[in-house]
Amino acid sequence: MTLTFDPHEIAETLYHGQFCPMFIDGKDVPALSGEVIDVVDPASGRALATVPRGGAEDVDAAVAAARRAFEGEWSKFTPYDRQEVLLRIADVMERDWEKLCVSDTADMGLPLARTMGNKRRVIGMLRFYAGQATALHGDYIENSISQSMVSFTTREPVGVVGAIIPWNAPTAASIWKIAPALATGCTVVLKPSEDAPLTPLMIARLMQEAGVPDGVVNIVTGTGREAGARLAEHPDVNKVVFTGSTATGKTIARAGVENLKRITLELGGKSPLIICKDADIDKAVPVAAMAVYAHSGQICIAGSRLFVAREIQDEFIEKLRDFARGLKIGHGLDEGTDLGPLINAVQTEKVEGYIAKGKAEGARLVTGGGRPEGDGFAGGNFLEPVIFADVTDEMTIAREEIFGPVISVLPFDTMEEVVTRANATPYGLAAGIFTRDLSTAHRTVKRLKAGSVWVNMYHAIDPAVPFGGLKMSGYGKEGGVEHLQAYLDTKAVWIQTE
Ligand code: NAD
Repeated sequence: MTLTFDPHEIAETLYHGQFCPMFIDGKDVPALSGEVIDVVDPASGRALATVPRGGAEDVDAAVAAARRAFEGEWSKFTPYDRQEVLLRIADVMERDWEKLCVSDTADMGLPLARTMGNKRRVIGMLRFYAGQATALHGDYIENSISQSMVSFTTREPVGVVGAIIPWNAPTAASIWKIAPALATGCTVVLKPSEDAPLTPLMIARLMQEAGVPDGVVNIVTGTGREAGARLAEHPDVNKVVFTGSTATGKTIARAGVENLKRITLELGGKSPLIICKDADIDKAVPVAAMAVYAHSGQICIAGSRLFVAREIQDEFIEKLRDFARGLKIGHGLDEGTDLGPLINAVQTEKVEGYIAKGKAEGARLVTGGGRPEGDGFAGGNFLEPVIFADVTDEMTIAREEIFGPVISVLPFDTMEEVVTRANATPYGLAAGIFTRDLSTAHRTVKRLKAGSVWVNMYHAIDPAVPFGGLKMSGYGKEGGVEHLQAYLDTKAVWIQTE
């Protein structure tokens, strides 16, 4: 990608250590406590900005604003009005797309070419749900009680939505939660991750510019234990939509039980990618590598268990190693960077702990695992991409979500065996298979227990296609028409006509 702008210069004008307030009821506000959180660039350790450390009282204020907007001005918007607002948001975000992507990359490290490549998942999502806003409908149902009774259903917004998102895709995660809420007539209080809160704050202001009334979209920054926990348990929040780790997802589900909230959970994974002996190896190698190394492994759908047919294992590993060694590690804002930093020092040390465990449990380290040296890496959380061979199903690196650039290669002998092993995980987010045999592909797709399955590819996500996990990867779908249902209640109406 050749850039027509200087991303470092944009980052410098956006953030130079200044205070970025929260956004509640259409206004810029600090935390009521006055406390702040430092936000740093994970590629350099440099301070980018500070944001308010919102607490329970700030969440309460945001939920109250969201409730007022839901009952008030926003309730008067027709589907067509909401559609127009969503289309205007798409337009202003498209206008500022470069800025939004620079902000995301500066805040969480994903190489700029990748944040910019998410346009269809963000702008496309807004336009997709804009279309859906005028397609909402109930059903006329022929009842069997009496011909003089009419029965039908209406679809109504659930109310105030609490959205809690992780740090690895702030723009996409925000829009995936806000767009269906606006399409259905809900209002939102969104809490971004304390590790990457900056772009959602920018997005909320663009939404105001696009005509979103005050209180309809509120952003409360803060920690998970404080602001996040209050949002998850708040009695006046009707629905919680969460993306993050399985451990936090369970806490959120427990918090929601008290008020029987509607809950959507997009959680972690340990996804299998199966390379059959008839696969096109040269096509499969880069896909298998980037199924993990995209965002330095910090993606929920990382194909981190790479099952390779024993017959082709040596050739595959050799080509995968060469590919991994050819990747350029660097600052996400630098042109040509393939692999950015990990989000923070704690996560980097956690990944290093997994690498040490892999070695100790007998896996063979083919490449990577060190910290790259040189001026460009000072202060950043960089790791060289890792390939482990001779991994067995029992090893820790084959069982736990690492959230780092670590591929475990597990050899297999038969399709029967590999499908059983691929499914032998508590997670069920995604899976992939490379084969030239159509029957093998269809049979395997049917048997893999995962919310998304890709054949001869990996990683495709589209606004119109539902995305979400099974088992401990969560429940509910995001994207597609299906996602709207989670923001709607059904009311049955009966009328006596005689
Ligand atoms: P995390 O669970 O630590 O945090 C996610 C969000 O929850 C953050 O905003 C955090 O502040 C908040 N939070 C933390 N504790 C909370 C609590 N007790 N109550 C309420 N909120 C709380 O996850 P992370 O480290 O930010 O993100 C990485 C995880 O997210 C990985 O497990 C990854 O697989 C998962 N993820 C899943 C998807 C998906 O679509 N399935 C997408 C991206 C990331």
